[in-house]
Amino acid sequence: MRLLADLHTHTIASGHAYSTITENALAAAAAGIELIAVTDHGPNVPQGAHPWYFWNLKNVPSVLNGVRILKGCEANPSADSENGIDLPDVVLEKLDFVAVGMHPLTGFDQLDRDRNTEVLLRVIENPLVDQITHPGNEDEFPLHLEEIVAAALKHNVILELNDHSFEPTSARSTSAAREREFAEAALAAGVPVSIGSDAHYALHIGRFDTALRVAEEVGFTRDRIVNRDAASVLAHLLAKRDRPRLDHGGERTWPEPVTRDAEEGTTW
Ligand SMILES: [Zn+2]
Ligand SMILES: [Zn+2]
Repeated sequence: MRLLADLHTHTIASGHAYSTITENALAAAAAGIELIAVTDHGPNVPQGAHPWYFWNLKNVPSVLNGVRILKGCEANPSADSENGIDLPDVVLEKLDFVAVGMHPLTGFDQLDRDRNTEVLLRVIENPLVDQITHPGNEDEFPLHLEEIVAAALKHNVILELNDHSFEPTSARSTSAAREREFAEAALAAGVPVSIGSDAHYALHIGRFDTALRVAEEVGFTRDRIVNRDAASVLAHLLAKRDRPRLDHGGERTWPEPVTRDAEEGTTW
């Protein structure tokens, strides 16, 4: 099975990632990926991006070197904001893609399953939210699986199968079994599922072989995965709500470097 879209990618705006949107787009084009969502960390993660960063993403081309760019976020549940998320609705509604996930040092490190589930259920109920990232992160942010899966089904929110969760070197690798349980439950319930690279460097865009293998073992077919290609992603998102800035920024191609004739213009 081959997937042609990646709904989880980071840039230098996340503070602990190492490529730009441009580099990610060029790497995606080289890898045959049709669409990427730029999902930088929200402000509550240490070094996460300021709300203005997300607001101003309209400057970025919507298509760069043939790759569709969804301008999004990986926001965090927040205990002290009006909407329970660390970006306000007035910013979220402008984004092409809204992912939310739980991360260390954002106020939820107490391993409190009931509280985590409660805050994430409120996030899932927000009609502006499209995806929950790495819900199977049992060791850091335990959740009541049945409640999260039922809410995701009801509100048409994507549950992500995250490639990092299955990487032996990842901080989340000890939760691989739980992530598999989420995949099984999501498949059985009919919840939309994506497989994300969570790339923090351009060359990792579209790399999700490990999570993909788990998805296949669990029984997923390609038609059950939202990010199978650009068209399937856009169809899913547009069926959920309007995306007012989806085409802002237009279509651009990064120019070829200018090659100069060594003789031309030489006057000495
Ligand atoms: Zn994350
Ligand atoms: Zn991430």
